[in-house]
Amino acid sequence: MHVQVQTGTGTGGEHTKGTPGFLTIDHLSKIYPARRSADEPLLVVDDVTVEAGSREFVVIIGPSGCGKSTLLSCVAGLTDFERGSITIGGRPVTGPGTEAAVVFQHASLLPWRTVEQNVAYGLKLRRTAAKDEIAERVHKAIGLVGLTGFEHHYPHEVSGGMQQRVNLARALVVEPSLILMDEPFGALDALTKETMQDELSALFGRIDRAALFITHDIREAVYLADKILVMSARPGRIEREFTVPFPRPRTRAITETLEFEQIVRELRLLLHPKKTQQAG
Ligand code: ADP
Ligand code: MG
Repeated sequence: MHVQVQTGTGTGGEHTKGTPGFLTIDHLSKIYPARRSADEPLLVVDDVTVEAGSREFVVIIGPSGCGKSTLLSCVAGLTDFERGSITIGGRPVTGPGTEAAVVFQHASLLPWRTVEQNVAYGLKLRRTAAKDEIAERVHKAIGLVGLTGFEHHYPHEVSGGMQQRVNLARALVVEPSLILMDEPFGALDALTKETMQDELSALFGRIDRAALFITHDIREAVYLADKILVMSARPGRIEREFTVPFPRPRTRAITETLEFEQIVRELRLLLHPKKTQQAG
């Protein structure tokens, strides 16, 4: 069932979702084989279909263990799948490529490399860019995430929020057309998390990219998304689709509106039906 809360029809300075059908996930299913002979194979992603425009910010929300990370991993080309297909920019995903870059919850930076070296690392491994170009792209990515001035710091010398900026810069530096984020702010304290959300939102206003962002934080989903897909408990299916109508650029002020609270409430009802009813 696909329900739209409201379609965004703002006028002037309107956010465009870009070219439709940029990312397509078509009837995707993923089964993990049995680990031991006594086990059953595990269906984790069940017939999932998603479409995103080339500038659209899509958030997937669902309970723990429902298959969100598996779905993202399939899109990244890191996990194979049994049924269905995925295309990015019209090209089928058959393995890890340069179209998409992933940001995980834990930055896993190389501790003996500086911020700048960590950002450059993946790009160097790919061996596709010349030295000057690497330096320029690293400089640009570091600027985009607000880390200018910290290039020569080591990971242990910067805060958790800043480590996650480095992580994001590592993804941006390969200039992917799609950025995949798997609960990237899940381990941050509440205030840092809000700052990172604000900056990510502003960042996507400046770059011409699509995003697939996974979270189990309802308010984070509503604040960031153009579109929210709600996944069911395992096997993960898309239960509902919400279009988030707030124009961009967004500010924290939207989180104070009745409209924001209504979407939050609907999501809460879907994700924790009992708790929400008890709370009235
Ligand atoms: P989520 O990110 O929504 O919490 P995951 O995609 O990580 O969920 O996992 C979904 C289910 O698949 C879980 O039950 C998990 O134990 C199982 N799972 C994840 N990875 C593997 C794997 N490599 N082999 C077998 N089962 C897995
Ligand atoms: Mg996960």
